Amino acid sequence: MYDKNNVFSKMIRGEIPTNKVYENEFAMSFYDINPMFDTHVLVIPKGPYKNILDFSKNASLDEVAGFWDCFNKTADKLGVECEFNCVANAGANAPFIKQSVFHFHLHLVAGNRKPAFHEQLKAEFK
Ligand code: AMP
Repeated sequence: MYDKNNVFSKMIRGEIPTNKVYENEFAMSFYDINPMFDTHVLVIPKGPYKNILDFSKNASLDEVAGFWDCFNKTADKLGVECEFNCVANAGANAPFIKQSVFHFHLHLVAGNRKPAFHEQLKAEFK
């Protein structure tokens, strides 16, 4: 079930500040508050989808198109070209990095790793 009190839902409603990169009717992107790479941006749909599967199964075609338009424009604005990683964590017990905010988001990361990346890996695999 989707919890509308999650932090990204509050950002969509404008209840907390957001350092936006790009926004359209169906999606928005913004800088991660705890960047693990030189460039670390999150791309989210505005609709209430808890993870990537919820979005891919239940979003309308307009929402899907809007999401990828936002992704493309964000990558263009950041100038990452073909040199980036794109990650979606799903579930509190995901095998690699766990999902902590239960509103679907893609991490778009580029450049060098920051110390926070190594700290998170250590914490996840201790
Ligand atoms: P995940 O572990 O995949 O759920 O990632 C959630 C991400 O959301 C983390 O990288 C957090 O640093 C980021 N995050 C949490 N709160 C905020 C916020 N207020 N603004 C921007 N990013 C946030």
